[in-house]
Amino acid sequence: MPAPEFDPLKWWLASREGIDDATDRDLERSCTRKDGYRTEDEARAHAAMNGMGGVLFTYHCRYCDLWHLTRRPSRG
Ligand SMILES: [Zn+2]
Repeated sequence: MPAPEFDPLKWWLASREGIDDATDRDLERSCTRKDGYRTEDEARAHAAMNGMGGVLFTYHCRYCDLWHLTRRPSRG
């Protein structure tokens, strides 16, 4: 049985993979928790149907490539 060699590249790739996995899980959670819409119009229409047209605004999600609705940040 050969002694395991320490390969910095493999180690770096392995730790990087772990970070990506955790990030993916976070994104998956945030994206599946919110409804996704294929177009901004669809997202707006959905907000309007729920009487939330003035409360929610749409944003394009760069992770799942869908549109999500989120509450307008309140200022003062
Ligand atoms: Zn998303």
